[in-house]
Amino acid sequence: AAGSPRYRRVLLKLSGEALMGDQSFGIDPAVINRLGDDIQALKDQGVEVAVVVGGGNIFRGEGLAGAGMDRVTGDQMGMLATVMNGLAMQDVLERRDLKVRVMSAVSIHAVCEDYIRRRAIRHLEKGRVVVLVGGTGNPFFTTDSGASLRAAELKADLMIKATKVDGVYSADPTLDASAERYDHLTYNAVLDQRLGVMDATAIVMCRDQHMPLMVVDINEPGNLVRAVAGEAVGTLVTA
Ligand code: UDP
Repeated sequence: AAGSPRYRRVLLKLSGEALMGDQSFGIDPAVINRLGDDIQALKDQGVEVAVVVGGGNIFRGEGLAGAGMDRVTGDQMGMLATVMNGLAMQDVLERRDLKVRVMSAVSIHAVCEDYIRRRAIRHLEKGRVVVLVGGTGNPFFTTDSGASLRAAELKADLMIKATKVDGVYSADPTLDASAERYDHLTYNAVLDQRLGVMDATAIVMCRDQHMPLMVVDINEPGNLVRAVAGEAVGTLVTA
């Protein structure tokens, strides 16, 4: 079993793709349930957990923009997609008897709370998992940027980006057998080498706010707990 947590408050970024598993669209129940188990394991260790969910498994703004749709409208649709994923996450966590609050950057009062920073912090202090949806609430941003922003606002000790590989590589390891895996990187190295960790807006936000980021393979059960215990699973990116 992993050691005691080294980080008190963590922000976990789950992309829509992470929820999709091997499907081509939507949410794989087996995958989201497994993620629920991992988040429960973190809560069992007394870690405060905020989760930012993406929406790319349902809709991305750029998609129809290429076919002439107004980009802002497309991005609004994308933000709504993240709300759906957040509700699924809420359901999974509540079935594990965790206390959960979904907070959205776009107001949808019939469905979830608005994101209000001080209230989000209060939820975390009370032991509730806070599921943050709607990204930043603005078009032209991504949920990775939303995650970086919230991690800074909520004073997370660590941001974790869930991926399908066991860290950051010099090239796509599924395409290039000579790809090298990094244990540790700086944000400037990520930018200089154009490593596909997150978009540049999100990277710069983390760099300037000195927010450490761990890129972790979440298909490996137990990795979240190991990461928060300070074990070298995945790649650590720091300023
Ligand atoms: N989006 C947005 N502003 C934000 C976050 C997201 O407009 O602050 C929209 C954008 O259209 C994006 C979509 O929501 O394509 C889904 O988010 P994202 O692509 O980040 O999801 P992920 O890749 O994490 O699944």
